[in-house]
Amino acid sequence: MTDTRTEQKTPQTLTAIRQQIAHAKQGAFYQEHFAGIDPAAIDSFDAFEQLPFSDKGDLRAAYPLGLQCVPEEKVVRIHSSSGTTGTPVIIPYTQKDIDDWALMFARCYETAEITNRDRIQITPGYGLWTAGIGFQLGCERLGAMAVPMGPGNTEKQLQMMMDLHSTVITATSSYALLLAEEIAKRGIRDKIHLKKGVIGSERWGEKMRRRIAEELGVELYDIYGLTEIYGPGIGMSCKYECGMHMWTDYLYYEIIDPKTLKAAEPGAIGEIVITTLQKEGAPLIRYRTHDLTRALEGDCPCGLHFPRIDTILGRSDDMVKVKGAIIYPGRVDEILSGIAGVSSEYQVMIDHLNGRDILRLFFETPIADADRIKEIESTVRAAFKQQLNILPETHAVALGELPRSEKKSTRIFDNRY
Ligand code: ZN
Repeated sequence: MTDTRTEQKTPQTLTAIRQQIAHAKQGAFYQEHFAGIDPAAIDSFDAFEQLPFSDKGDLRAAYPLGLQCVPEEKVVRIHSSSGTTGTPVIIPYTQKDIDDWALMFARCYETAEITNRDRIQITPGYGLWTAGIGFQLGCERLGAMAVPMGPGNTEKQLQMMMDLHSTVITATSSYALLLAEEIAKRGIRDKIHLKKGVIGSERWGEKMRRRIAEELGVELYDIYGLTEIYGPGIGMSCKYECGMHMWTDYLYYEIIDPKTLKAAEPGAIGEIVITTLQKEGAPLIRYRTHDLTRALEGDCPCGLHFPRIDTILGRSDDMVKVKGAIIYPGRVDEILSGIAGVSSEYQVMIDHLNGRDILRLFFETPIADADRIKEIESTVRAAFKQQLNILPETHAVALGELPRSEKKSTRIFDNRY
């Protein structure tokens, strides 16, 4: 018998999709976006895949509350995605949306075998952003003790971590790395009681993972999510470290080729597109996340019957083409992770100078010897030449010289346009 959750394309899911489309059309945004589309006509997944995508730009145009699909009295809260690059997107939540999110998030913690005996130090920001408040919601639902620090103030962060014996740290990968480096620098590792780290869904490489795990002495888990679809907590890795289980009782996802916008080949890297199945406040149909990943096949030894996607490999907007080669952060991580003397942090700058594209790669190294650094730089150039057919300019810098961020960090800068 097929497990209804591992296999996404079930009659039940199609029914849920149809109902969600009908509900979405109660709001101003989908009334217009899906004008002329009859939910009853979506009688197959093929028909569903003909529907137009929803993209962040469309959602911005619905600012402030054009996405709202329920009467005012049912809305209990809003969240908003960061508006640093334009109009923000506002997502209204009903009490059911909050309860569903809490349930999914508690399930994430349980997947990492975190229990109500744990003390969870929450470092992502609180407020309009969904991160901090989501980690807190799941923690309270699980019955664990939340230590709601929010970002920054490393001094106090470490003090509370020591005094309260926090057992779980939740953070972005770059902030976890900053804390790990600070703990090592201060020599306070024996006063830290962390066992697990739950790291937000930005793309991070194997080297960075190893450094954080070793320096903090923790098991690391990836959590997935985005403000437009509840927030973090819609997918989670388990101890077998084979991608993230996705909570397909609340959402349906597709992996598309970001160039052709058609379904990606099974197992191929593409962009994850999400449809909510039970959202009341602001349902989204075929929402383009721009996160790059791939579908993983087969059963997971942990026994969870939720399908898996790979850890996030980058953003489709970060996917750049230089001299015919496709470059995204996950690919750069992969190349650098095999080279001794190269640390986890790097930046790629792409410029157009004197009629040609130049790729400059800055990476951190713990090595101080100038000759040895020259050798490492030349190894890096050779690896890029061999694997991407691009010869970058390489610039090794000392550990800690590249920027760390409490939010998601950008690593590839395309300055050509
Ligand atoms: Zn698993």
